[in-house]
Amino acid sequence: MTDTIFARIIRREIPATIVYEDDDVLGFKDIAPQAPVHVLFIPKNEAIPTLDDVRPEQAHLIGKLALAAAHYARSEGFAEDGYRIVMNCREDGGQTVFHIHLHLLAGAPLGRFGTPG
Ligand code: 5GP
Repeated sequence: MTDTIFARIIRREIPATIVYEDDDVLGFKDIAPQAPVHVLFIPKNEAIPTLDDVRPEQAHLIGKLALAAAHYARSEGFAEDGYRIVMNCREDGGQTVFHIHLHLLAGAPLGRFGTPG
């Protein structure tokens, strides 16, 4: 597995506040939260650098990340208030860790998005 910081979290080599886990997905709190709730969901068993690298036979993993986030939102009681999921891809998308991950942001009304800069 490619040695990103997230691979090291999967292997429990560095600490993280893990809030969700199933056979395929790990969810843990972002170290620099951008909202009152900011959790990252990552595939546990496949190291895929970016969304652009996902092959058709791996597409189910993206659904699993999204469903894990939705499950977490329901279980924590904020699904009805709402939330945002985000995947950043490469430099212009603001990606900094090259192991695909889905951001779950919630806990307050979120601003609009997509503004350059
Ligand atoms: P990206 O910018 O690649 O879409 O998102 C990477 C996220 O990983 C960032 O929001 C960043 O704060 C978070 N992050 C980076 N290093 C660590 C770490 O060591 N632990 C945790 N929990 N989050 C991290």
